[in-house]
Amino acid sequence: MSSKGPATTLTGLATARGFVAGPAFIYRGDGDVPVPEYVIEPGREGDELLRLKRACSETRRDLEGLISSLNDRTERAGVRVFESHLMMLEDPALVGAAERLIREERLNAEAAMRRTFDAARAQFERMNDPYFRERIRDFDDLERRVLSALTGFGGSPHLELKTPSVIIADDLTPSETVRLPREYVLGFAMDGGSTTSHVALLARSMGVPAVSGLGDVTERVKAGDTVLLDGTNGTVTINPDVATVLSFRDLVERQKEITEEASLGAPAGTLRDGSEVLIYANFHSGVPMEDVRAHGARGIGLYRSEYLWLNRELQPSEEEQFAAYREAAEFAASLDPHGSVAIRVLDIGGDKMVRGLSAKESNPFLGNRSIRYLLSHPEVFRTQLRAVLRASAFGPIRLMYPMISCVEEVRESAALLAEVKAALDAEKIAYDRDMPVGMMVEVPSAAINAAAFAKLVDFFSIGTNDLVQYVMAADRGNDAVSRLYQPTNPAVLKLIKTTVGAAKARGIPVSVCGVSAADPIVGILWAAMGVDELSVSATYIPVLSKLLHRLSRADLDEYAKVVESLGDDVTGEEVFAACRDWMYGKFPDLDNIVL
Ligand code: PEP
Ligand code: MG
Repeated sequence: MSSKGPATTLTGLATARGFVAGPAFIYRGDGDVPVPEYVIEPGREGDELLRLKRACSETRRDLEGLISSLNDRTERAGVRVFESHLMMLEDPALVGAAERLIREERLNAEAAMRRTFDAARAQFERMNDPYFRERIRDFDDLERRVLSALTGFGGSPHLELKTPSVIIADDLTPSETVRLPREYVLGFAMDGGSTTSHVALLARSMGVPAVSGLGDVTERVKAGDTVLLDGTNGTVTINPDVATVLSFRDLVERQKEITEEASLGAPAGTLRDGSEVLIYANFHSGVPMEDVRAHGARGIGLYRSEYLWLNRELQPSEEEQFAAYREAAEFAASLDPHGSVAIRVLDIGGDKMVRGLSAKESNPFLGNRSIRYLLSHPEVFRTQLRAVLRASAFGPIRLMYPMISCVEEVRESAALLAEVKAALDAEKIAYDRDMPVGMMVEVPSAAINAAAFAKLVDFFSIGTNDLVQYVMAADRGNDAVSRLYQPTNPAVLKLIKTTVGAAKARGIPVSVCGVSAADPIVGILWAAMGVDELSVSATYIPVLSKLLHRLSRADLDEYAKVVESLGDDVTGEEVFAACRDWMYGKFPDLDNIVL
């Protein structure tokens, strides 16, 4: 295991849920069919058209055979994919265009077909909707079939897949996916792809986990490396050490048990005495909504809208955003009477660079990011606000501003929001007039001056991921300074306390949506300090919920007092140790619950 190289964990898109461990199998793909291009002799057009017709018939037979074999295996998703290929093949516009090239330009059939597919692909590439852009893989797939029939080129890589393995690939066409022997496919980890790709669909229907959008997993993994694939959270760990493998196995088992148990209990975040700390899920496009529900989330406490911008050339249109926000709002409403979705407007910059939008900056974490970017690009902001407002007519949406550092930013955003509302009024477009508007507290200035901000917004959400890095001046993603990245440092605790105090004084709710809330020892500390809601990745909800079920408000008050009594003259580590002691005192079986 670890002897093959250092362990690395890559993060991508959670594409098909589930956990699996196994050896890597690097799939290199079918590659291009070599296509000759020449002008045919005058008068031979009919022969060429006949060749094309025969190739199309052969392709049709191929596809029909494949569909019936998938039907036998009851793989409905695959059936639908290849039925769509059949429809594309039968679309007279497609074959008609190639026939015209043969007739009018006397092009040979394979070159005519390639040009036709190139044109179709170019059309889809220009589309904004990721779903349609994904269909390019279908053109690739169908093109390969037709060209293979025309040229007789097989070219399929010899599949040496003889043991159950995790398939590591750049991307896969639907044909490549279904051709892999099912019994040996443990899961998929891919450089490219998306959660709406056909591989994603097929992986889900095959019941195997998948992670896509990993960037360069094919470069990082060698055949035979041990891979831990977590399709639920979207991570891939390469060459883990023995302890990591063991805890991964445990995680798999325990996730199953805890999720089953949580679904039987009271709503997530209900304390023993019936009071509540609402537990919400963090969410972004690509996270399966069923997972959020399955883990018991009461709503979505952080919708990271920037994911709609990532990995693409063009910005999402108002319509595309509207559809995504509306879907999330309707979904949140279906979760719980408290269900709502906090849509955070575009939080780019820092560690989330968007091609074409993010400028090169020497210090991006302190640069023109997030709300600063939006206020300096009002057209982008306005479009997003319109989409959010329009979606608010369909379900409970809260609007949230990221990276607020001064009151002017809240005021300027409010002015723009008022302008957009006025425009919608003029157009007689419905929206929720009472949509709450809140802000992230993740910059020290906002926490220090929380009382002033509390007068301007309807809720606070503390983003400890950024707050800790800015308070401690320790990059959240840099291992070399992770020692300094201390959520329980007294300086951080002071700012949490100030923020919670300011929220309470104004009677507005306050949540924590940073990853610290997912650590039960720290998350429960935030609840003890008066935070009303915790928002975490869905998979962490059952554990938090299970622990909270066993605590009362009096327990939480006691926990807060213990930490308070430590004073300021302690290290972050000492505070954490005291927290751990208190939690173990309450839960001698904590290790069994938490993993
Ligand atoms: C945070 O900073 O804590 C947060 C939730 O936002 P993000 O991780 O997206 O920066
Ligand atoms: Mg943040």
